[in-house]
Amino acid sequence: MQQSAVSKLSPWIRHRLVTEQEVLARILGAHPTAETISFVQEVFWRSYFKGWLEQHPSVWDRYLVSLDIALENLGNDYSEAISGRTGIACFDHWCAELIQTGYLHNHARMWFASIWIFTLRLPWELGAAFFLIHLIDGDPASNTLSWRWVGGLHTKGKTYLASASNIARFTNGRFEPLGQLTGSAEALTEAYDHPLVPLPPAQSTPIDDAMLLVTQEDCTPQTFIADRPLGILGIVSSTNTGLAADFTQHAVSQASDKLVISDDWTTAIIDMARHAGTNRVVTAYAPVGPVATALAVAKTGLSKEGIELHQTRRPYDSLTWTHATAGFFKLKKKIPQILHDLDLG
Ligand SMILES: Cc1cc2nc3c(=O)[nH]c(=O)nc-3n(C[C@H](O)[C@H](O)[C@H](O)COP(=O)(O)OP(=O)(O)OC[C@H]3O[C@@H](n4cnc5c(N)ncnc54)[C@H](O)[C@@H]3O)c2cc1C
Repeated sequence: MQQSAVSKLSPWIRHRLVTEQEVLARILGAHPTAETISFVQEVFWRSYFKGWLEQHPSVWDRYLVSLDIALENLGNDYSEAISGRTGIACFDHWCAELIQTGYLHNHARMWFASIWIFTLRLPWELGAAFFLIHLIDGDPASNTLSWRWVGGLHTKGKTYLASASNIARFTNGRFEPLGQLTGSAEALTEAYDHPLVPLPPAQSTPIDDAMLLVTQEDCTPQTFIADRPLGILGIVSSTNTGLAADFTQHAVSQASDKLVISDDWTTAIIDMARHAGTNRVVTAYAPVGPVATALAVAKTGLSKEGIELHQTRRPYDSLTWTHATAGFFKLKKKIPQILHDLDLG
């Protein structure tokens, strides 16, 4: 696979070790606009997916329910797929590459997902979960919605079909799975509507006299929510292990005074807040996904102890997510205005 045309920045952007706004500022400051258009649009795809899932949270809830059902009905074909023993050389190669490096080029992700859904005929939720565990840029929004896009659920009825000739062309002939891939991709369907839910209002100004909580959703929160926090607690779930989990732990730990690896976030936050002598905890707004769920649970427990948990949203998110209600085109049209509002264009 030729990888020269990609930045490989996604693990850093996904965990906000570097933000979308910083990447855009750097690229637009260094190159003429005409040369940067496609890269700038790529960065906005991330914002689009995040904003769209935030406003259609039932997609994530439904994905989790369907995943549980699929996990109860696993067969040999699934085991062969996730251990790279399907006999489709390119697919088996990408499977190993994903597990060993935590990264796949966007083309490989699309081909992999397409083969998984249409040739191997496995539930898309299992493939999405497999990616989420192994990708070091694993992201609930980009991942779930990309899998749904390949399967024809995001842009309803429009699927992505991997073909031997396309794979041969973009892998310089290294792989050409002639006769091994299905030639048709009938769009997946689902029995649920996913209504648009308005964005919850969010605070975007700093909060004083607070303990700062760092999660994998944003590893540079000091830059916008608390200049001088009374302590910085990093917290990650203990559920996952492996390369991607290691990356996440390092990302969170370098941003905090203390790292806790636990599924009981409530107790860890209460202990640290008491130690810091405050009843205010502030963290970066967590978009739909496991962190948002863990914070919602913790908020209830904290409030019983008289501790407030505030989530502060980056202005960049509020600015971009507002336009992520339909297809990408709607946000794309607003890119010049958004860049202007951010003082970048
Ligand atoms: C099935 C599937 C699953 C995916 N899962 C994830 C995931 O879990 N996490 C994730 O970050 N991306 C995911 N993507 C999107 C995309 O593949 C990666 O963001 C991209 O490959 C990252 O590599 P890069 O940094 O070299 O990208 P570049 O091509 O250098 O792009 C620059 C930046 O733009 C953003 N970007 C580019 N393309 C996309 C895209 N299609 N969607 C969202 N953001 C994009 C990323 O932040 C990236 O770092 C998935 C795509 C598919 C088809």
